[in-house]
Amino acid sequence: MDPGRPAGVNRTNLYVLAIVVALVAAGVFAVARSDVLTGWTLQMTLISAVMIALLATVWVLRRRLRDTSAVAGLVHRSLQYHDERLRVSEAQLGEAMDMAGMAYWEYDVATSSFGFDDRMLALMKTNAEQMAGYCLAADEFIERMVHPDEGAKLREDIGRCLLAVAPKQIFASEVRLRCGDGQSRWFALRFHYVPATDAIAAGIMGAALDVDEAHRAEDRLRLLANVFEFSGEAIVVTDADNRIVSINRSFTRLTGYEIDDVRGQNPRILSAGRMPARGYATMWQDIAEKGGWEGEIWDRRKDGSCYPKWLTISTLKDSAGKITHHIGSFTDISERKLAEERIYHLAHHDTLTGLPNRFSLHNRLTQAIVSVRRESRSLAVMFLDLDHFKAINDTLGHPVGDRLLIEVALRLKSCVRESDVVARLGGDEFVVVMTDIGDAPIGVVSAMASKIQQRLTEPCVIDGRDLHATPSIGIAVFPSDGADADTLMKNADVAMYHAKSRGRHNYQFFAASMNEAAAERVELEGSLRQAIDGGELLLHYQPQIDAVSGRVVGVEALVRWQHSSRGMVPPAKFIPLAEETGLIEPLGRWVLNAACRQLWTLGRQGRQGLRMAVNLSARQLREEKLVDHVQELLAAYRLEPGDLELEITESAAMENADITIGILRRLRDLGVALAIDDFGTGYSSLAYLKLLPIQRLKLDRSFVRDIETDHNDAIICSATIALAHSLGLEVVAEGVETEAQLTYLKYLGCDLIQGYYYSKPLPEDALIEFLAREPSAS
Ligand code: C2E
Ligand code: CA
Ligand code: CA
Repeated sequence: MDPGRPAGVNRTNLYVLAIVVALVAAGVFAVARSDVLTGWTLQMTLISAVMIALLATVWVLRRRLRDTSAVAGLVHRSLQYHDERLRVSEAQLGEAMDMAGMAYWEYDVATSSFGFDDRMLALMKTNAEQMAGYCLAADEFIERMVHPDEGAKLREDIGRCLLAVAPKQIFASEVRLRCGDGQSRWFALRFHYVPATDAIAAGIMGAALDVDEAHRAEDRLRLLANVFEFSGEAIVVTDADNRIVSINRSFTRLTGYEIDDVRGQNPRILSAGRMPARGYATMWQDIAEKGGWEGEIWDRRKDGSCYPKWLTISTLKDSAGKITHHIGSFTDISERKLAEERIYHLAHHDTLTGLPNRFSLHNRLTQAIVSVRRESRSLAVMFLDLDHFKAINDTLGHPVGDRLLIEVALRLKSCVRESDVVARLGGDEFVVVMTDIGDAPIGVVSAMASKIQQRLTEPCVIDGRDLHATPSIGIAVFPSDGADADTLMKNADVAMYHAKSRGRHNYQFFAASMNEAAAERVELEGSLRQAIDGGELLLHYQPQIDAVSGRVVGVEALVRWQHSSRGMVPPAKFIPLAEETGLIEPLGRWVLNAACRQLWTLGRQGRQGLRMAVNLSARQLREEKLVDHVQELLAAYRLEPGDLELEITESAAMENADITIGILRRLRDLGVALAIDDFGTGYSSLAYLKLLPIQRLKLDRSFVRDIETDHNDAIICSATIALAHSLGLEVVAEGVETEAQLTYLKYLGCDLIQGYYYSKPLPEDALIEFLAREPSAS
């Protein structure tokens, strides 16, 4: 029972009832006994009854009065008590709201406005003044205080709440409110509809909570979840026992596995099985000790294909330091590895032929030396240089040259064993390393050198042309010719130069003396360069005599080098050098010019019609500007073109015949005479000769020399002369020293004679004297 309720309040009614009953009883009695009661008695009785009633009434009223004041006291106390209760619960509510960080707000339907409590103002970091009081019209509130992105939504939520029929249905909404500090903050609103009562108007009451922090945290979490999900790296999360807990999209894209395929599995299922068990052991050791590992491993996709990946594993630990999760992130590095391999290949290989390049050769050679040294074996380094390759490049263009080089690379590879190395150093230089040549190196290497020569000599058909890429080969053998890669390469190179100077298209083993020769060569090359510019060159002239008339019909210009300290250097010594180094070009130009000038001088001295033969080297023959140069000289000295004869050797004419024939034809078109020098020493292909626009053949000295003693040579001379004549060519016999040789050659019908028998090559003044001694033509 409620202790505040006043106990005597209902008894008042009993007292009032008793008085009324007494009065009624007295009245009834008086009426009933009116016959007995007389006027006095009656009066007395009535007065008594009234008195009793009055007394009773007074008593009752007194009692009532006493009771009423007690009730008033009780009511007062009760009110006090309720006030206190209200205050306490209000304080409790306030405290609870403070602790919850909650504020109160309401919406009044009648005035269509929002009202707020102090807490709400505090949460919004604003005060009543700034808010224009505790109450704001709904439109103004939404416009001023609600973030524009959420205004419409808040309106809608309030609207739904007002329409709600279910009593106390709670609505929730999140809005960003613009706070007094200029920031927008997220608030969670919870509210319900309150119908009108006598005391309050209809509206909404609600609570508000600042959830900005939580909202941001949630945003961060969402962001992190997205980062995980959409990361370009595949990510797999495993638990402490390394069972897969979660994967992201990239994981699925990369491996083909969905989460259902792998959940609870060990990531080992991805392995391609290429990493040795030892590797995994180190990996787990690193994870345990350093908290992570990264490296390259090979995995297998769901479809079975393998790929290399770069994997980073890190661990997550709980507060006690115990590992709770492993996070593996990885990318497919196939592309990167391919690119690396490409770069590696580019760095180590020649782009044109795909052969190892100089750098790579050096490494391989060094490795090979280490292993043959260990096994006390030998190896050979062959240095190959293609003869006259530059000319092909210059005249037919680089694309043709490139194709020739590719063909050479293929042929070289086809000659050697798998374990041997074929490399290209650049240009037309190749190196073959024979890594196992047993204990009879010279024989094995010679056989290989011959095989290579033979293989490369077979014509290469490029663009319908037969091209030749004959090699000059220098060979150095480990350990006798060098103990390291550099020395072997250098000595093989020296031997190669030696092969070049021996007339190309041959192979030479390195000999220590070659280094001296090489040094001399370097010295000679330097001084030859100076000689060409410095006036140390001169021409000697050897007469050519008509076999029938005995008259001088021409001279051959032969270059001499009057060296300042060495004296007269024979052409056999410096012409090959000039060819190798390219100096033949300026040298050849000098000779042509000097010979033409001499021809002009002779003409002015009355020796018109004398022919001047000039030697052309193979290299000059492919020089672009040769024809122009000859033409200029003929014009400058006003020479009869037929008075100039150009001698080319048979082998020079045969080398890359297509090019040569073209140039020879152009020279022939100028009217210049052409002769084949040293005929019989080369291919001696008469069929081929038919193609050349030549007038003369010069029978080589070697046949003439032994004509009297060697029956074969005599036959060769005889046959050559007959065949030449059948082709309409004149024959010049070279090196005729004896009368017997002269007689026999005359007998064979040889047209012209050149040799010591008549004259050695003569300096200019001696030639003039020689010519002057001639009986006059008349
Ligand atoms: P080659 O064109 O065959 O020149 C003929 C060589 O035979 C000359 O030697 C000459 O002195 C020599 N000779 C001539 N008659 C006789 C003889 O009866 N007996 C002997 N034993 N030798 C005789 P040389 O002057 O030493 O020239 C050697 C080679 O040098 C020439 O051979 C030629 O290939 C080259 N040469 C000379 N001058 C030039 C030049 O201006 N340009 C080019 N490219 N090569 C040249
Ligand atoms: Ca000659
Ligand atoms: Ca000759």
